[in-house]
Amino acid sequence: MNQHVPIMGIPFPKLTMEQSVELLQDVIDQKEQRLFHVVTGNPEIVMSCQKDAQLRQIVDEAGLVTADGIGIVMVSRVRGGSLPERVTGCDLLFKLLEEGDRKGWSFYFLGADEETSRQAVINIGKQYPGVAIRGRHHGFFTPEDEPRIVQEIADAAPDFLIVALGAPRAEKWIHSHKDKLHAKIAIGVGGSLDIIGGKVKRAPAAWQRLNLEWLYRLISQPSRWRRQLILPRFAVKAVFFRERSRSV
Ligand code: UDP
Repeated sequence: MNQHVPIMGIPFPKLTMEQSVELLQDVIDQKEQRLFHVVTGNPEIVMSCQKDAQLRQIVDEAGLVTADGIGIVMVSRVRGGSLPERVTGCDLLFKLLEEGDRKGWSFYFLGADEETSRQAVINIGKQYPGVAIRGRHHGFFTPEDEPRIVQEIADAAPDFLIVALGAPRAEKWIHSHKDKLHAKIAIGVGGSLDIIGGKVKRAPAAWQRLNLEWLYRLISQPSRWRRQLILPRFAVKAVFFRERSRSV
């Protein structure tokens, strides 16, 4: 049985949230020195990969690409591949913090504005006291600051480097520094620290269950509507995309 569903050429593994967390647990347990890059594959990333060869290569090299959004899952179903469920960056981060709380996993948080970054780390410390917070840095740094931040992360050597710089900047940043970061796993998580830090409200649980998180975002952050125009375009393109028959 094929374990991946290709969507516009990107192979998405058929993994539930629980299986994704188990996979990351295995990565932490291994002695592997290379950084394991998790890309949360949302429609914007999939669409950008069609034009941006560098991003496409980063996604191809990633250890895990998760189905970030109901759009990805629905397209997989229409095409008969059936990804089991959404594994969004934000949900994955919450699961990893829960698991990390029990297992003492260590984290470094990069991204968001200074106040949000500070508040997010305070909130995480309160809610997940078993998590080892190895450091944090806001995401509005200059190129001159980068070597110092990379060194700070390398010295912290966390299990998880959480990068909230927006997509695809986070993916590119992780990839360009991957040999120097000394983190076991790095994940770009979009605006998740804004939610944890209380700057942005997440959709209520009922909306999430109904797969209407995108609609809540559209209503609560109307300035994003331009970005969300990509969703219907993605749906049409992805449903009719001619996947190359390659075994993945
Ligand atoms: N951000 C940042 N540095 C920047 C630009 C953005 O740290 O130079 C942060 C921003 O504060 C926010 C996150 O990146 O916390 C992007 O959130 P968004 O929801 O736009 O993520 P996306 O959906 O683009 O991945």
